[in-house]
Amino acid sequence: MREDSETPAGFPGGPGPHACGCRAPEFPSAGTEPDRMCVFDIQRMSLHDGPGIRTNVFLKGCNLRCFWCHNPESWNVHPDIQYFEAKCIGCGSCVSVCPLALHGIGEGGVHVYKRDGCTVCGKCAERCPSESLVLTGRMMTIDEIVKAAKRDMPFYEKSDGGVTVSGGEPLLQYAAAAKLLERLKDNGVRTALESALCVPEDHLDAVIPYTDFFLVDMKIADAEQHKKFTGASNRLIKKNFHHLDDLRCDYCMRVPLVPGVNDNKEAMFQIAEFASGLSCLSYVEFLPYHSLGEGKFKSLGLEFRTGLEPPSKETMAVLAGIFPETVEVRY
Ligand code: SF4
Ligand code: SF4
Repeated sequence: MREDSETPAGFPGGPGPHACGCRAPEFPSAGTEPDRMCVFDIQRMSLHDGPGIRTNVFLKGCNLRCFWCHNPESWNVHPDIQYFEAKCIGCGSCVSVCPLALHGIGEGGVHVYKRDGCTVCGKCAERCPSESLVLTGRMMTIDEIVKAAKRDMPFYEKSDGGVTVSGGEPLLQYAAAAKLLERLKDNGVRTALESALCVPEDHLDAVIPYTDFFLVDMKIADAEQHKKFTGASNRLIKKNFHHLDDLRCDYCMRVPLVPGVNDNKEAMFQIAEFASGLSCLSYVEFLPYHSLGEGKFKSLGLEFRTGLEPPSKETMAVLAGIFPETVEVRY
């Protein structure tokens, strides 16, 4: 088996494009052009994704399908149309502009959108007056992103902050991500990268020279459970953790705490055991599950799969106590 054959479909260079089930045609530039990338959000003044005050650049595309995901708009590596039915005012503006006649006004003046065959040209979203139709994700050049990120330079300097490149899985667009990180560093910006590490090692190697801090996920340490709840093996993930560690990179481990998945002693003991075998791990951070996101699933024509209760502070304290004293756990 080729190493990257473990990478789920949808990964550039992996087994088939857009096996994410997407309806869009090819967007060959997303993930394959080193100077442009598909971005779904740029968030300023973040305090949670690395040191200090940060700007988060969210790249589109993810090769995991975590059971608890609340960002389905990040899955495809190219733009998507989101349709928020509740915002529709039934004006019909989208009907005349769609070249494929995918919009219509049905009985009682109710708007109907048939997604199948949509080429994500964005014309309907451009015309929609109520933001019921939204084009999510756009191709941005490195110059555009660096310019946007540099607006908050004074805040980075005062807080030891910087820019975090996130996703989705930003290493699906690794060539462009590496160039972006390099340009940010050339401009005096401290950099961080958030990744689930389910990528071939050379994709990680591309960004290591330009990344000051890594925020990397360990969701489930047991191989079978990981596959069951995320759709992919965790072999590459564990290997890449050791790779970062061997190269003495600065990194933390993020553990999404999901009820019924890994909020039990056995699952956490396995993660703690893995963490204690790493010598450069800066700290472990719990990310408690939250149930937001249902509306986003609906807007993409997807079924919402969870709706669990977030873990309590008491549960988090018990699970944190499973880690050895040498490992700092933040929550
Ligand atoms: S994006 Fe809108 S206008 Fe373009 S093909 Fe899809 S439904 Fe039609
Ligand atoms: S343009 Fe927007 S508000 Fe008007 S019918 Fe289409 S989706 Fe609804």
